[in-house]
Amino acid sequence: MHPDLAIAHDYSLEACNTFGIAARARHYVRVTSVEVLRAALADPALAALPRLVLGGGSNIVLTGDFDGLVLHMAIAGQEVLADTSVPGRTLVRAGAGQSWHGLVEYTLAQGLGGLENLALIPGTVGASPIQNIGAYGVELKDVFYRVSVFDSASGQLRSMDAADCRFGYRDSIFKQPEGAGLIVLDVTFALPTAWSPQLGYAELANAVADAGLISPTPRQVADLVIAIRRRKLPDPAVIGNAGSFFKNPVVPKAVCASLLASYPALVHHAQSDGSEKLAAGWLIDQCGWKGRSLGRAGVYAKQALVLVNQGGATGADVVALARAIADDVKAKYGVVLETEPVFV
Ligand SMILES: Cc1cc2nc3c(=O)[nH]c(=O)nc-3n(C[C@H](O)[C@H](O)[C@H](O)COP(=O)(O)OP(=O)(O)OC[C@H]3O[C@@H](n4cnc5c(N)ncnc54)[C@H](O)[C@@H]3O)c2cc1C
Repeated sequence: MHPDLAIAHDYSLEACNTFGIAARARHYVRVTSVEVLRAALADPALAALPRLVLGGGSNIVLTGDFDGLVLHMAIAGQEVLADTSVPGRTLVRAGAGQSWHGLVEYTLAQGLGGLENLALIPGTVGASPIQNIGAYGVELKDVFYRVSVFDSASGQLRSMDAADCRFGYRDSIFKQPEGAGLIVLDVTFALPTAWSPQLGYAELANAVADAGLISPTPRQVADLVIAIRRRKLPDPAVIGNAGSFFKNPVVPKAVCASLLASYPALVHHAQSDGSEKLAAGWLIDQCGWKGRSLGRAGVYAKQALVLVNQGGATGADVVALARAIADDVKAKYGVVLETEPVFV
């Protein structure tokens, strides 16, 4: 047995998920290195059990106790690499267990821009490629270079580039069956050496203009993003939540046009492939759900896209609320809402 492998049993996951749902894991291991990971997976008592790879628990809904092995990723470390082989880019690598926002702050402190629009997203570096995190017009794939993974099917280490990861809107190979056994160990980012602000998102562009910033720095953009997020989103340390609960649905142009004929105020954004992205929060709000509760789960009063724990909510409460909302949106608009968090 590896000296750093400590196996806990009947472990409470309440503090390990930002929804604050009370659930327990049959076995729990804090993974501080690939050696600990290998040892845990080789342990005869653990090898055949179902596994849950856990980061910050900010994108999961625990629907009950987990009757298997939780691998809580805690691989640390972040560094600017000396490797200058990618023209116009500075490479930065961080361990899977590193805090995402901590990495954003680290890069800013090094004078590096590129991650500022993604400031204050909860969770870990290791989870960032899983759903290709995005905010304020930037997605992880825009600054991604490669990822080191442990393939639990073969026991091998692999390096994957962006093409291998098949990034999409809140999607990647890691969410597909063929990527299910891949455990992210560290991620390398390629940050622009010559930085310019990404202000395609109107709310951020307006905030920059209102602050009177003609040539904002990465730090200034990050501070504006942080301020906007603090205004709009509940702090999981105060109100349990998992951020945006539904993806913004993407529909064909013709479907959007026919909806606009009945609902002229419909919020929609044209996509480069001709389709239209609808605002899930607007659809939910129009169905009257903003600020309403069902059982101990509710819809955040300031942002209809966020479901919150009103205190003591179970996974079943959250599932029931999400289902009721999706049913109403389908009935009124004919649009199917897909959930963003992973149900465990
Ligand atoms: C208030 C709030 C705001 C948010 N805002 C945003 C936002 O603006 N944009 C956005 O994209 N998301 C947002 N999120 C969602 C969430 O923060 C991200 O999805 C984040 O990347 C999840 O990280 P995590 O470490 O908490 O992952 P977890 O919730 O622990 O895990 C999520 C999934 O990733 C898998 N996973 C985790 N780590 C690894 C690993 N090392 N290897 C393989 N699989 C792994 C898990 O098995 C699970 O399937 C928000 C959440 C909250 C609570």
